[in-house]
Amino acid sequence: MEKQDVIIIGAGPAGMTAAIYASRAGLSTLLLEESAPGGKLLKTSEISNWPGLIKEEGADLAGNMRKHATAFGAEYRYGKVVQMQDGYFKTVFLENGESLKSRAVIAASGTRERLLQIPGEKENIGQGVSYCAVCDGAFYRDAEVAVIGGGNSALEEAVYLTRFARKVTILMRREGFRAQQTIIDAAKRNPRIQILTKVIPTEILDNGEHVTGIRVKKSETGQEFLLKVQGIFPYIGSDPATGFLKGLDVLDEKGYLITGENMETKIKLLYGAGDVRKKLLRQVVTAVSDGAVAAQDAFHKIKGAY
Ligand code: NAP
Repeated sequence: MEKQDVIIIGAGPAGMTAAIYASRAGLSTLLLEESAPGGKLLKTSEISNWPGLIKEEGADLAGNMRKHATAFGAEYRYGKVVQMQDGYFKTVFLENGESLKSRAVIAASGTRERLLQIPGEKENIGQGVSYCAVCDGAFYRDAEVAVIGGGNSALEEAVYLTRFARKVTILMRREGFRAQQTIIDAAKRNPRIQILTKVIPTEILDNGEHVTGIRVKKSETGQEFLLKVQGIFPYIGSDPATGFLKGLDVLDEKGYLITGENMETKIKLLYGAGDVRKKLLRQVVTAVSDGAVAAQDAFHKIKGAY
């Protein structure tokens, strides 16, 4: 079995940057991704906080990063990682039964969107329930849709959806936002956006083929009402994709990877980078920084410079 210097799990901004730094440093590098390259960038309509680019489509930035990630010799391939085992060479087990070995592993596997966990949600995924406005927004031309959540993702994607939808109702379970002020302002001044606060979605309704509405409960009075919408976009946060690291005692109580300043966990040469890491600010700029630091640290340790 061919052994790599570094296996990077996840081709979002953190993983792709780690691939650039590791391969440029001369490490044999394998970048694994279970979906399409780009991570959360692919589900982001517009990036306006990447220095040097005032406005960029998430998918375009992802495409450029993907080309860059393999420009210096890193190998990119599909692979869903289900388990990792520590050792002088770490072993990465894939869902298809294959196992791969490397000295260092950089977990850059990001997060997965949370589900509302209400009746009618799972049954209607792809039939009116979507977790990706960029992917599905155009299906809702002149329609009425609901976005659930009051964070950056919910507000940004609600604004994006007004390119297509006639009306976008944001449903928030409390009054306070969790988003940056510029995004809050953009949502508030958009005439196609209505914001309802202190409401909790309880059920998604359909006609057997497509979503027809969402039942919502007012948290103060308990009173329920029905909002007629054809599309529902939950943006209620996400959880770390770290199932393959369970049992290694490197996760916090929420499942995020605990690392030091060099991105290394308490297991030597096992790193975390990007949103998967316990950190203060989850942004593209902080993700790429993590990826660079992790790859550089791995380089020094593998080549014996430390
Ligand atoms: P988030 O910041 O965790 O916000 C989640 C929102 O959903 C909150 O308003 C939360 O309400 C609500 N919520 C949670 N569970 C709910 C439920 N069961 N029912 C109804 N509402 C529920 O998640 P996010 O917006 O996906 O952002 C994730 C991270 O990425 C954040 O760190 C964010 O800053 C970052 N991000 C940044 C940008 C940017 O900088 N442009 C863009 C996107 C994401 P409560 O407030 O009541 O908990």
